[in-house]
Formats: sequence, C-alpha cells, structure tokens
Amino acid sequence: MSKRYYNHKRQRDEDGDAPGRTRHPPGLKGKDIGLFYARRSQARKQRKETLGTVCLSDSKEKEIRRLFYGKSLENLNLTDGNSYTHIEDSIFKRSYLSSIRGNITEKLCEAPIDMLRVPHLDEQLKNEFDKKCKDSKYISMFKFREKLPSYSMREALLKVIEENQVVVISGETGCGKTTQVAQFILDDYLMKGKGSMCKIICTQPRRISAISVAERVADERAEKLGVSVGYQIRLEKKLPRDHGSIVYCTTGVVLKQMESDPALSQVSHIIIDEIHERSVPSDFLITLLREIIKRRTDLKVILMSATLNSEAFSKYYNNCPHLNIPGFTFPVEEYFLEDVLQMTKFKFNQIGPQNGNRFYWKKKQDNKDPAHIEFKEYIVPYARQLKSEGQYDVQVCEQLKDIDSEKINLDLIFDLVVHICESRKEDGALLVFLTGYAEISNLYKKLETSKKFPTSKYVIFPLHSQMSTVDQRQIFLPAPTGKRKIIISTNIAETSVTIDDVVFVIDCGKIKMTHFDVDSNTEKLEPLWVSVANADQRRGRAGRVKPGVCFHMYSRARHMIIEKYQKPEIIRVRLDSTILQAKILQLGKIEEFFPKLMDPPDSKAIQLSLDLLQRLNALDDNENLTPLGYHLAKLPVAPQVGKMILFGAIFSCLNPVLAIAASLDFKDAFQIPLGKEKQADMKKREISDGLNSDHWLLYKALETYETEGNTQRFCYEYFLSSFTLSQLKKMKDQFMTYLMDLNFVSSLNPRDPPLNRNSRNASLIKAVICAGLFPNVAVLRLDQRGRARTIRSIDGEQRYKFHPGSVLSGYNTCVFESPLIVYYKKLKSSSDFIHDATMVHPLPIIFFGDQFSHKLTPDGHCISISKFLTFKTTEGTYRVIKELRDRMNWFLEHKITHPGFVNWNEPSNEMNVLTAIMELITSEDLGDIDNEDDDDDDCY
Ligand code: ADP
Ligand code: MG
Repeated sequence: MSKRYYNHKRQRDEDGDAPGRTRHPPGLKGKDIGLFYARRSQARKQRKETLGTVCLSDSKEKEIRRLFYGKSLENLNLTDGNSYTHIEDSIFKRSYLSSIRGNITEKLCEAPIDMLRVPHLDEQLKNEFDKKCKDSKYISMFKFREKLPSYSMREALLKVIEENQVVVISGETGCGKTTQVAQFILDDYLMKGKGSMCKIICTQPRRISAISVAERVADERAEKLGVSVGYQIRLEKKLPRDHGSIVYCTTGVVLKQMESDPALSQVSHIIIDEIHERSVPSDFLITLLREIIKRRTDLKVILMSATLNSEAFSKYYNNCPHLNIPGFTFPVEEYFLEDVLQMTKFKFNQIGPQNGNRFYWKKKQDNKDPAHIEFKEYIVPYARQLKSEGQYDVQVCEQLKDIDSEKINLDLIFDLVVHICESRKEDGALLVFLTGYAEISNLYKKLETSKKFPTSKYVIFPLHSQMSTVDQRQIFLPAPTGKRKIIISTNIAETSVTIDDVVFVIDCGKIKMTHFDVDSNTEKLEPLWVSVANADQRRGRAGRVKPGVCFHMYSRARHMIIEKYQKPEIIRVRLDSTILQAKILQLGKIEEFFPKLMDPPDSKAIQLSLDLLQRLNALDDNENLTPLGYHLAKLPVAPQVGKMILFGAIFSCLNPVLAIAASLDFKDAFQIPLGKEKQADMKKREISDGLNSDHWLLYKALETYETEGNTQRFCYEYFLSSFTLSQLKKMKDQFMTYLMDLNFVSSLNPRDPPLNRNSRNASLIKAVICAGLFPNVAVLRLDQRGRARTIRSIDGEQRYKFHPGSVLSGYNTCVFESPLIVYYKKLKSSSDFIHDATMVHPLPIIFFGDQFSHKLTPDGHCISISKFLTFKTTEGTYRVIKELRDRMNWFLEHKITHPGFVNWNEPSNEMNVLTAIMELITSEDLGDIDNEDDDDDDCY
C-alpha cells in the first residue's frame, strides 16, 4: 500500500484552503475578506460531500481497457420487459420463467391429486406390522405408550382426523402428541391394509427435536431409523420407506420441498407440531396450507400445540375441530424471587442503594427507559408492601427494590441449586432454564468446579442445540441410583423435549429473542421476560412423575405484569428471506399474501425488505424475481449471503467465500468464556492477518481448523467451538450441492483448484464480501492517525460502535486505510453495534454499489453511489468504471441466465471481462480519501 488515506489532510492546502480554523491572510481588506471566508466555506462544504478522490494511474487505466476493449457486448440491452427473449432456451430459462410467470394456484391444478394405492404393498406392510406387534421389544415399549394420556384418546383422534381435513390437537407437554399421534395414524392405515396410502410428515421447530423424536419413535417401534420412521433436517437425513412411513423434519425442509411440489403430492398427512411457538416457518406454512387444501382435498392437516392459545388456530382454520388431550400432572409448588432470596440469604454483590451509594441509585432512577419506569411503578411499591407486611426479611425487600435484582444472576442460581440439593433429600432431577450458551456453560462450569457437586452424587448436563446428538440421548435416561441429575437448558426443554424425572425447576424468567426495530432498521437480540405461557410450561416440567417445585427468579409482582403470550416471530424479524421464499413459491404480490398470515407483519417491515431485495437486484420494480433473485431464493441463506456465494463462484474464490457465508448464516465459531475476552481478542488478531476484516477472520478460523492436524488444540487455544466449525464445514458442502444444482460449479469439492484460482487474493475476497453485503455500508470518521472516531451507517443518521468482539474494535489497535466498511449485522444490545465488519476500499463500493451517477462540478468529475457516497474522480477513471460496470451487468445477467462454470484457463471474452473487473476492484493504492478530523463532522 503506497498511501494511507488518512494522511491527506495536507492536500487541502493546495486548494488555498488551510486546514483547521486559520484566519484570512493579513493582506486582505473589506469585501475580499468576506469573499475569502465565503469561498473557504464553499470549498469545505463541497469537500464534506465527497469521500475523496479515486483516480487510476494512466498505466492501470490502459491495462484495464486493453483487457475489455472490443470485447463482446452483444445483448447489452438485455431485459425487454419480462419476456427474456434474449436468453436462449435452457433448463434454467424454463424453470425461471415458470417461476416468475406462474402462480401457486395454477401449479396446484397441474399436480396429481390422489396418492396412488399399491395393493401388493398394502398386503406386505400389513403382514410386517402384524408380525411386529408380537415382537417382545415392541410389546414392552407399547406398555409404556399405553399409559400416555394420548393413548386413551386414540380412537377419538383417529375419528376426528378421518372426518375432517384440518384438526387442531392440544395437550400438556409430554402427553404424547409428537411421538404418538403420527404412529396412531400410521398403525391404523397399516392394520386396515391401506399402508401404501399413508405418508406422514411431522414438522418440528428445531433440528435437535426432529432427530431425537424420530429416534424415540423408531425405538418404540422396535426398529432402526430409516424403516418406517426417519428424519430430515438441513444437513442430515435418514429417510424411511416411501409408503407407510413417518418423517420428522424441520419446517424449513417442508417449505423447500414445496418449491418444487407445492401440493405435497406424495404426502397423506402433514402434522405441524409446536405451532404455539409461532416461528416464521410454521406461521408461513399454516397460511400456505390454507391455500393448498383447497386443491388437495385428500390431504389431512393436523396442527399440534401445547395447551396454549390453541383456540386461535382453530379459528384461523374456519373453526375447525379442536381436540384437547386431557393430561395429568402433579401439583407443583411455586416460589418467586422473594422466596428464593429469603431461603438462600443471598446478597447481590454490588453497590446498590441498600449499601448507601446514593449516586448509584440516583443514576439508575434518572433513566427514562420504559423498563425503569415500569420497575418503579410496579415492583418498587410491591417491595415496599412486602416490607410493611413483615413476612420477609428487610434485606430481601430492600434488594427487590434494586432493578439489578431482575437481571439473571448466576451466583444466585448457583446458591439456589446448592440450597435445593442440600435441603431436599427426595429423588428427582433438577432442570434449570437459562437463556443461552454462555450462561449455560458458565453455570455448568461453576457447578463442576465448586466441589459441592461431586460426580459420585451428581450428573450434570448442559442442553443446547449446539450440543452433539450423542450427549442428548443420555439426558433422557434416569440418573443412576443415588445420583441426582441436573440439566441446564435453553427453552428447548420447555415444550419440545420432555425429560420425565424432573421434580425441581428453576426458571430464570427470561428468553433471548431477536427483535427487528423497523424505525432504526436494526435487529436487537436481548433477553426478554418470559410470557405467562412460558412460565406455566416451565413450571409444568416439574410435575411429570410426582409433585414438584418450581422457582421463578422474578417477583410475584413481575409475574402479574408479564405478557400472556410471546409475540409471533414473523412480526419480530427481518422479512428478506421470507419474501424471497414467498416469491419462489409463487404466492403473488406480497401485499396480498402477507395479510393472510395469522399475525401480518408491519407494512413498514415489509417495505424495508422489498426495498432491500430491489437494491440487491433480486426483485424488479414489479416485484418479480429477477434471474439473480431466482438463484438467491434457491440458496438456503439470507439473500445477501447468497449473493456473496454466487460472486465467490464467478470470481473463482469459492472456498473462502463459502466459509464466510456459512459463518454469517449459522453462527461464528468463536466461543469466548466470560473474563477471557482480552485473550480471545489477541488470538483473533493473531489469525486475522491485520486485514481489518471480521469476515476474513471467520474464514481463517475455519480454514485453519480444516487444514490443521491437531484441531482440538487449535480450537482450545483460539476459543473456537469444534462442533460449530464442523457444522460450518458441512454447510460448505451443502452450499456446493446447491451451486451444482444451479450449474455454477462442476465439482462438489469446495477446495477444487479451478474454483479457487483467486482464493489467495484477499483484496478480491474483500471486494466479493462487499458485492454481497452492499448496501450494508458504514462510513467511519477517522482521526489523523487513522483511528475510527465515529461510525455511521448509510441508511440513517444513527451512530454505531464496533461490537467488542469485532477485530475492528479497539481504539488503539485499529488503524484504517479507508473510511468505508461493509457489515452484515447491526445489533442493538447494550449499545448500537455493528456486529461484524470488513474495511473496504472505495473501488469495490463504487463498482458494486447501486444508484451509480456521475456529475461534472466546477471542481471536476464526481461519482456518487446510493446518493450518499460521493467520490471525486477524473474523466478517464470515470469512463473506465462506467464502461466496466456496464460490462459487468452484461456479464452478470449473461452468467446468471446461463449458469455455468467460468473457465479461467482459456482466453475468452468472459475471462477478459472478469480479469478487467478484478484489476479494477482490487486496485487499492489509488487516490486520496478526504477524512478530515473536523470539529463539525456531520457530513454523511
Ligand atoms: P408431547 O409431544 O405431547 O409433548 P411426546 O410425544 O414428545 O409428548 O412425549 C411423550 C412421552 O414420551 C414423554 O412424556 C416421555 O415420557 C416419552 N419420551 C419422549 N421422548 C423420549 C425420549 N427421547 N426418550 C425417552 N422417553 C421419551
Ligand atoms: Mg411435542
């Protein structure tokens, strides 16, 4: 790098405009003084509107021109409306056109209506089943099944399903909905000699439950997985036979299948489980099925939920029958925070008002935050009342008045676990609900290292979706005699996983949730209060085998004011992927489909996502999928991540880009224990190659894991989760199968050398990241040493910080050569954070950005992107960029409508254009970026 962008303050002096706040030259008089200041202010204003000068050297310009000069621009005026006559006939063209022109109603009409009966199979399946009923393992399992509350409802359930197309079934968690209902149906078909007509899909909200339930059901049927029971989740499947079988799968898997077969023509029954969770895919599927059953009149739809709000679903389906399985649970004693504080004599370890620090107290009181106001209004008076009643220690009541008493406190939970284990001698497992991985692992470590929970007396399990499936099975086994089982879990143990022998429950009172704030266009991930429904579910876990006890870590007053139900996810998240999914399913105009949802999202949220999809060129102005949008909808990732993957394939730097895409889509693999942040930060910097890019770091982490001999040591040393890394590796392979389907690659190996010709070119990879993530751009204001002073995203006025986990954070360590960054996620948690970022140079932004425009000002040529980002340039540079952008558009449309592998080995027009683009977007040492450290810094 020959120049540092932040070093160009001096440049201004050449315009006769001194930096800083100098006075006019001494020789000036009268009007000239006024003119001097007017000119200076004008120049300053103009400067503030630009982000500097971008200028290619003559030789570079020539080199780039030579590469693409005279190269084919046939079909440049490509899109003629929506007819795509310029695209040759191909499989792609046919499926693309059918996807933008068709609609789901027509597609459903074309689908075969009835499942075909296979008589000889019916006979065979019946005989097999009769034989199975005599199997000793089957019989012993059946004895257990008979005792479940759902068994007594078997006949009634079968009858109502037989007589109705749609049925809602509710029942206490553990009564046997998930494992039994599908088996009742299947067995009935088998016994009646209609087995070939039965194919049941049962959707689960989580991967972990799809597998564990399928395993359980196969066990109950004295079979291995893959005979009459199987599962399918995103990266794994074990499918059963085609006829007479049950598949447990995630909701996303069914939606994907419906892209090619919306009528679900091979399915006889679809059971949507855990609908009360109101996840986006399940809400979406429920709405979609309302359309589908009109055509597939033989398809049975069974909606299953815990006993929460199930009436609402029946109402949504035109008051369809609703059957409740009466369950039996033992009474559960309930305790609240005040009781816990009283029992444990716990003292919050902080300077609260009870310790006389008035300043601290005042600071908290001053807060205008609605949460504080609510606390003052409801909880503080309750604590006062408790004090006056004298039932609790004064110390307890005083502590309740401190708002921090409502935060999750692992020390208090630890003390409570100790208290329960010491004071309650009876048998029974203890289940602790916490919000996330970090808390679960911290409490787990605390218990393990405390010496109070020796392995001779306790077995402790963390239960989290990131745990490997082998560990999970042990959780269901009863603890060995004389030992107590302690399970520390997320809300997964609330409804989808049932552990029978739980007698004690600790409910931390919170659930971590993402919430999309349309006004700031930011996602927030925060622990929120549970709803009454969650709290009841958690309590219910304690009364499965005998009377139990539940400890809620919040006061009775808080319990009175928490919401009845959690808000459905669809009104809490970004809708980009959901809209693309609706488009590929051919559901028509978004504004017509979305209002059909049970709880339609805010129209502003819909608009934000439509705008983004249009900016990504995934949708055209008429809301039709573009060829690019079509591919993006086929990739199982967020559209921006998908775009990055396609560009990675086109520019032959696939392996690193897939690693980055997988990490953005799933999660980054770093797992940093509390208190180790600094060490982890150093380790991150060590492998991030000083590129000011979190995305590059994500690649390096996975790459080193994949190529390192001793992965365990590497993971341990660099605070990485080997489980997550192994998932990411699998995801890369899965992306390859999608790219292969789309015909963008000719091999399934992400490391195939022809797909990675440019994988060592970090500048190119950063440019590809930029191509994918645009318009997520933020502008840094740098000080003279190139350190970030403020960060402002281009879509609003708000200022951000780098998340402390980002390698770009750290005031003293990060020096930026360019004030531009691209990012994937903005998150509001304790502050407004840019979660992950890559510093990019101006050319990738100018090249891949939208709303490219050019203006000739008295000062020279200017290019602007997205209206906000303006760069000075020369005429020559402007022309090269403009022409190459046109060629890139031609190339992209060509490539995307003729998906195929780019052959870099033989000279071709395609390769020349790509090489020219690469030359341009990786030219980093050109031009100057103005980034004056002014007092009045509000120019973007
Ligand atoms: P529901 O869906 O109504 O909550 P399930 O069908 O999941 O209930 O579970 C019914 C019963 O089956 C549970 O109460 C539990 O006793 C038992 N069970 C479920 N899954 C397992 C498993 N993986 N291992 C052992 N027992 C299980
Ligand atoms: Mg269930």
